[in-house]
Amino acid sequence: VSADALVLGPGREFDLVRGFLARWGELAQGVGGDCAELDVPAGSRLVVSTDTSVEDVHFRRDWLSAREIGYRATAAALSDLAAAAAEPLALLLALTLPRGWRDAAGEIAEGVAEAARLAGAPIVGGDTTAGAALSLTVTVLGTAARPLSRAGARPGDALWLTGTLGGPAAALRAWLAGAAPDPVHRARFARPLPRLAEARWLAGQGATAAVDLSDGLAADARHLAAASRVRLDLDADAVPRLAGVELAEALASGEEYELLLAAPAALDAVAFAMRFGVPITRIGRVAALAAGERPGVHARVDLPGGHDHLSP
Ligand SMILES: [Mg+2]
Repeated sequence: VSADALVLGPGREFDLVRGFLARWGELAQGVGGDCAELDVPAGSRLVVSTDTSVEDVHFRRDWLSAREIGYRATAAALSDLAAAAAEPLALLLALTLPRGWRDAAGEIAEGVAEAARLAGAPIVGGDTTAGAALSLTVTVLGTAARPLSRAGARPGDALWLTGTLGGPAAALRAWLAGAAPDPVHRARFARPLPRLAEARWLAGQGATAAVDLSDGLAADARHLAAASRVRLDLDADAVPRLAGVELAEALASGEEYELLLAAPAALDAVAFAMRFGVPITRIGRVAALAAGERPGVHARVDLPGGHDHLSP
């Protein structure tokens, strides 16, 4: 039992937190006080993001293990720090735990810890409550001297994509058809890898804008174009996709947590792949808007709409 756990009072909620702290060990820092205090390196910007994963909205209980649910919710939140090319500083977990999930709480906490450890982000606080549906809200804090955003793409930049798309969409397609997904597809859904170190390297190589793919390439490309007030000329045929995935499915596949970036065309894709063990592919270019033209994405194929969690 860590010293932090001793400051928690009696009661079932605190017993739950004590159980988390026992699993998290050194990864938990300052949990149990009213606030966490963090040092931000001089000259850095603090970047913050929060992300919620809800049972039967983002995942179903029979698709994922409790550990995967914890891992995936945390990785998804950390992916927003990757989009900013930020160094993770800390994270907080707000957990709504229905009665039927209490026995799985420890495994969920293990999954959160696994993603936090991979990112080097201590867990510095959170909240637990009872509720009707399992819900994990993960708030992430990071620092960067010059954070990337969606807004910096410049005409003349190339459009780059990390990874190979389509796994999450193909896994969902299989589950919704009552089938077992291909293990490669399932792994891309259950165990996404936030591209944190990759993003910092790319920022160092002159990347000007980035977005992490949560809504699907087509939709997130539109977000990047709108924020940067540019046109993206997308070479859809160049988009790398996993075996068993059609182009349209790859373009629509959400929750990929790969990065779409504007960066110099001369980027060394071979060096990137050697260093990080994941490909980076040039999939288009950034163009200036013509007079009266609206920001958007041009491709020689019909682009799908994005995933919208609030659509019926
Ligand atoms: Mg994002």
